[in-house]
Amino acid sequence: MTQDAARILVIEDDLAIRRFLRISLESHDYRVIEADSGEQGLKLALRELPEAVILDLGLPDIDGLQVIERLREWSAAPIIVLSARGREADKVTALDLGADDYLTKPFSVGELLARIRVALRHTASATAQSPDPVFRVGELVVDLGRRQVTVDGEEPHLTPTEYRLLVVLIKHAGKVVTHRQLLKDVWGPDSVYEKQYLRVYMGQLRRKIEKDPARPRYLRTEPGVGYRLVDE
Ligand code: CA
Repeated sequence: MTQDAARILVIEDDLAIRRFLRISLESHDYRVIEADSGEQGLKLALRELPEAVILDLGLPDIDGLQVIERLREWSAAPIIVLSARGREADKVTALDLGADDYLTKPFSVGELLARIRVALRHTASATAQSPDPVFRVGELVVDLGRRQVTVDGEEPHLTPTEYRLLVVLIKHAGKVVTHRQLLKDVWGPDSVYEKQYLRVYMGQLRRKIEKDPARPRYLRTEPGVGYRLVDE
């Protein structure tokens, strides 16, 4: 096995399928990292930075869809879903959340290997790399892998919505994100006109991470347009 063989993280609780995947992938010169739960998968993804992820949706702890969502907060590695759920809606949701491909069990190894090759080719040609899992500006440090926020060494407690809002702004750090886009990415497409949500949550977030919330250092208002998280 070569040193630069692509590492593939397999997140699957079914031991028989995991073994089968390991044998199939290793015989094609991939290196395999195994996780038997969603949380373990997320932890290993962060530690090993695999080139691709094969993900089962029915996991014992958290749902596979949630794994996709959390991985996508910081990783651009291709995710191939391998699931017994064959419904169109599950497929669409997984792809919307950022999965790259979806295979329904039972699957053929030949097809899985072909999908992996395609996914890895995309990664190799993509100019956009995974964002740094740790975002830093001034005293603000956001570890996207661990979902940990610190300001000047303190750890403010953010609600899931506040955190999500911050993550969306980090993805576009330095650029203005419109009200509409923030509402869509944080609250969903049905909420694009609910500007008061945004005002309320931005106020809360500023109180938690700004020294002087009235004159924000990090979370700037772009009047009439949206908000911008400074990146320097
Ligand atoms: Ca399963």
